[in-house]
Amino acid sequence: MHADIKKILISEKEICERSKELGRKISEDYRGKKPLLVGLLKGSVPFMAELMKHIELDIEIDFMDVSSYDGTESVGDVRIDKDLSNSARGDDIILVEDIVDTGRTLQVVIDFLYQKGASSVKVVSLLDKPDRRVVDIKADYVGFVVPNEFVVGFGLDYNQKYRNLPYVGVLKEDCY
Ligand code: 5GP
Repeated sequence: MHADIKKILISEKEICERSKELGRKISEDYRGKKPLLVGLLKGSVPFMAELMKHIELDIEIDFMDVSSYDGTESVGDVRIDKDLSNSARGDDIILVEDIVDTGRTLQVVIDFLYQKGASSVKVVSLLDKPDRRVVDIKADYVGFVVPNEFVVGFGLDYNQKYRNLPYVGVLKEDCY
């Protein structure tokens, strides 16, 4: 375990098993369709890589970059820094998130994708922190519900560090 981590909340094995389950469920729900998986950079990258291996459909993938977060506190406005590479017109989009916290990011991105002509937009998130929600929004597929603690690892960072940890954990206080 990394020296800065106080405790591991979700192990690599648990994440891989859950990703497999979610991949199977998405494959069933989207049977006959060709969804576009859209990862939100950078936090979704490890989860998206794990999840997509278990989706047995002809998918395509793309990425968007939105900024809404500074240090450990979510800030109000969300900016789109990188748009999709192609038009979203008629697409069944599955947004891939690392964590749904206040829900502000998701709301902005979902509205944006519908404005661009997406047929449907659903959300799969590795983590959900429902206690922090300020916007009434829910991911359609959730890996794990986590308590109201700042977590890092498996894509989630603190000042760009710890994204590469293979588990989700809580940082020691003296690392902030
Ligand atoms: P929201 O718009 O839902 O408040 O924020 C979503 C984004 O905030 C996530 O994609 C993630 O980048 C960041 N975030 C929210 N909670 C945490 C957390 O506990 N740890 C880390 N590392 N990032 C978080």
